[in-house]
Amino acid sequence: MQKIRKSMNKKEILDLLNCKNEPEALYAKAREVRNSTIGNYVYLRGLIEISDICRKDCYYCGIRRSNTKAERYTVSKEDIVAIAVTAWEKEFGSVVLQGGERNDDEYVTWIEDVLRSIKEATRNELGITLSLGEQTEDTYKRWFDAGAHRYLLRIETSNETLYNRLHPNDNVHSFATRLEALHNLQKVGYQTGSGVMIGLPFQTLDNLADDLLFLRSSDIDMVGMGPYLEHEDTPLYVCRNELLSLSERLQLSLRMIAVLRLLVPDLNIASTTALQSIDPQGREKGLLAGANVIMPNMTPVNDRRKYRLYQNKPFSEESTDKQIGILSKNITDCGCRIALNQWGDPQHFKNRRK
Ligand code: SAM
Repeated sequence: MQKIRKSMNKKEILDLLNCKNEPEALYAKAREVRNSTIGNYVYLRGLIEISDICRKDCYYCGIRRSNTKAERYTVSKEDIVAIAVTAWEKEFGSVVLQGGERNDDEYVTWIEDVLRSIKEATRNELGITLSLGEQTEDTYKRWFDAGAHRYLLRIETSNETLYNRLHPNDNVHSFATRLEALHNLQKVGYQTGSGVMIGLPFQTLDNLADDLLFLRSSDIDMVGMGPYLEHEDTPLYVCRNELLSLSERLQLSLRMIAVLRLLVPDLNIASTTALQSIDPQGREKGLLAGANVIMPNMTPVNDRRKYRLYQNKPFSEESTDKQIGILSKNITDCGCRIALNQWGDPQHFKNRRK
């Protein structure tokens, strides 16, 4: 493998993304950089998919507003708080509340109430990440003040032309608004996460190299990125025969994780569910490529199958205890250690604020 420099340029990134023949050396280097920068701890975030009601109509997403086949649900506040308490008792350190995008007053106030209730029920100890889409700066501030301290908002692709091909051409789906939202999250004080989908129709390797440079230059603290997976009830399904194979999308995603780890060593990088959809060992492979966060699904079992962003999304019915048991063993087998009872803040956030 070619020599890796700390501040890689685009050509060097492209060469690494292309290194199909020898990914093992790349993954080994990424693990070495992770372990020597932030250690070999893996942080668990209990994922609660709180609702699939969405005002957006993204061409790739199964819970898009126009998909009349999606069964809409919202988990009650009582259930969300009870799950958060379970996560706290299991010493997860933090939870992620993710859902479709709503920005009406009733919802904004309800989320505020949910956040305060979780904080109260867990003696202020449980960390809370939100992933609830684009909101106004004021809403981000209200949710921050109510107890959320991390926010995930994927840019999806950093290429505006490609972004526009994946979203309706209206002011509800604007690239500029998404960028501004990321900026506002950082301004309000959140540990800010972003990411992209990999293997999208029309996407080139050059686009992906730019995505990595975008994540570095926008000073993102956490990244969740994974393969694009088709869904039969979305407009993008017409492109299904033009995609990379599933195995190629998995390999490319793992290389993206590894290269990002080399490019920005102090980031938190999630090993995403979409990896696991292609390969049952996908999340573990993500750890072996340099990721350090896993988000076990804690959504009520009845709702898990409804939060169907793409085909074959795994919705195991395993209890949290069973998931922890399996994960602990797999994480150790990957040469990592589970970090319990810690928020697991990204080192990048601490460094950025020094
Ligand atoms: N509404 C919030 C937002 O837009 O950030 C959070 C929920 S959204 C469903 C979470 C993520 O799911 C998106 O950022 C997108 O990257 C991912 N996603 C949606 N459809 C997908 C697909 N077909 N394949 C892979 N990932 C997908």
